[in-house]
Amino acid sequence: MRKAIAIHGNLRTFLMPMRENGSPLYQNFLDSVINPNLDADLDVYISADVNDFYYDGYQYYTEESVIECTNNNSFRLYDKIKIVPVDEAREIIERELRRIIPNVKYLNVIHGFEASSHPAYEKLLNSGMAGAGAEPLINQNHKIYDLYKAITESKEKYDAILRVRFDCIYSGSFDLNRYNFHDGVIYTPGTKTIFCFDWYMMGNQRNMEIFMSLYERIGYTTEYQVWLLECTGCGTRSVEDWDKEKNPREGNICPFCKTTGSHFSDITISSEHHIGRQAILSGISPSYGGVHVAVYRYDEVSNDSVDKLERILSSEEIKGHKFVNYSVDPKSKGERIL
Ligand SMILES: [Zn+2]
Repeated sequence: MRKAIAIHGNLRTFLMPMRENGSPLYQNFLDSVINPNLDADLDVYISADVNDFYYDGYQYYTEESVIECTNNNSFRLYDKIKIVPVDEAREIIERELRRIIPNVKYLNVIHGFEASSHPAYEKLLNSGMAGAGAEPLINQNHKIYDLYKAITESKEKYDAILRVRFDCIYSGSFDLNRYNFHDGVIYTPGTKTIFCFDWYMMGNQRNMEIFMSLYERIGYTTEYQVWLLECTGCGTRSVEDWDKEKNPREGNICPFCKTTGSHFSDITISSEHHIGRQAILSGISPSYGGVHVAVYRYDEVSNDSVDKLERILSSEEIKGHKFVNYSVDPKSKGERIL
């Protein structure tokens, strides 16, 4: 069985010792993702970002970058941040990844891509719709698209492709021989009707190419508005098509139990909706991949606080650097010089 593992994104906590046992997060990655599939038929493709990674006691950003955050989440930053030239960051990333990961066929460390160059950027910003920031959405799909191009240009034909990111912890392992990769199915961490979680995806090459080329179609979900309903009355937590004619959000009345107090969030342009809607349009059924996954943050999510964020950002070492908060909340959203 010819297999490709396609890894994308910022390394973030990949090289960081885990709080639970002191072992680096990548050891969990090797045990769960690589080692169960390691033989001569495995090729690894990597598209990494030059910014935002832990190495040897610091979180690294490059000189021309911005330090990024969402919703004032302090767990997205490590206690100590270091700013280095692009070449230095790239050298660390390439050296460490080649040391740790076997069977690497393609390794690209991306620097200098501007999300604003994407044709749908303005449309996303001005859509009035929510669910994702335009920058993170475009940046993520750009790296996945880079992997898609590397795989198609290689002319290799794979029976299975597993797409994963660097900063996750897995409570199980992916033995690709266990799955049936027929047409019309992809394996994911789970779905909620039209919403498909995006931390990993597996499928045959034909199916995976549809999702790995989503970069070409980002923003198409604005044609299909959806909202996440969370009702404290009946416990419903579901993603619903947004029928503006019926305007079900009026008075925050739950369409199922008719009580007030339900909460509606627009998630039309989220990455999860892009994938879930694409599956419907392509006649593909997302199935559960059987492996539980969580994003492993720089700090416990329970330690999240604005005070901690401000303490990290007030460090002398990053004075003068640009900080951006990609929150959809207008109170937190914005950029400033530290
Ligand atoms: Zn309800």
